[in-house]
Amino acid sequence: MIRAVLFDMDGVLYDSMPYHVRAWHETILSLGINSDPDDYYLYEGLTGSFTIDILFNRAYGRDATDKEKMWIYEQKSRRFEELSDYITLMPGACEVLSAVKKLGRQIVVVTGSGQQTLFKKLEKDFPETFKKELLVTAYDVTHGKPDPEPYLLGLKKAKVAANEAIVVENAPFGVQSAVEAKIFTIGVNTGPLPSCVLSEFGAALTFQSMVDLAKNIETIIETTNTT
Ligand code: CA
Repeated sequence: MIRAVLFDMDGVLYDSMPYHVRAWHETILSLGINSDPDDYYLYEGLTGSFTIDILFNRAYGRDATDKEKMWIYEQKSRRFEELSDYITLMPGACEVLSAVKKLGRQIVVVTGSGQQTLFKKLEKDFPETFKKELLVTAYDVTHGKPDPEPYLLGLKKAKVAANEAIVVENAPFGVQSAVEAKIFTIGVNTGPLPSCVLSEFGAALTFQSMVDLAKNIETIIETTNTT
C-alpha cells in the first residue's frame, strides 16, 4: 500500500524553472559565456557548483575555482530572488495535493532548495497541506540529487519503506535520485525536454503536466503495486 507521496518542488509544485533558467543564463552570459537555456533543464537538480563546472569545462576546458563558484552562485541567487515575485503555482499542483490529502496519505517535499523561508511559503501557498517535519531541503543532506540521499531521508522522515511511497519529479537527475532510492517514480514533464528523457532516467510513468497527473493520481495511489 502507498502510504506517502514525495514531491519535488521546483517544476512540480511551482512553475519556477523558467526563472531559475533565466537567472543562470543571464549570470553566465555576463561572464561572456553563451549557453543554451534549455540545457539548464537537463542540469536541474544538480548543485550550483556542479552546474558551474559543466559550463566552465565547456567554455574553458577546466573546473571553476571555489572563488569563481561562490561569486557566480551569489549572482545567480540574487537574480533569481529579483525574479521570484513572478513565480506562480504549477497548474494542477493543488488538485494533486488535495487528492493525496483526501486519501489520507502523507505528503513529503524533497527539494534541493535551501531557502530559509521555504516552509512559510509552502504553508501560505498550500494551506494545511504540509508538515514541517516532512520537508527535506538542501540543509538536511550531504549529497544532493542525483544521489539517492534526499529521497532516502524523505522515506525516513515519513517512516515508510521505499515500496510504500511514490515520487513525483520533473527533472532527469531528480528522477534518477528517486529511482536509485528504489521508489516508484512518476515523471511530470513540465519543461521543454522530450518526455522520453524522464523514462530513460527511470520514471515508471510519465505525464505531460500536473493537470494530467491530477486526473490519475487517485487511481495510481490505490492500484499501483510497488512490491
Ligand atoms: Ca524539479
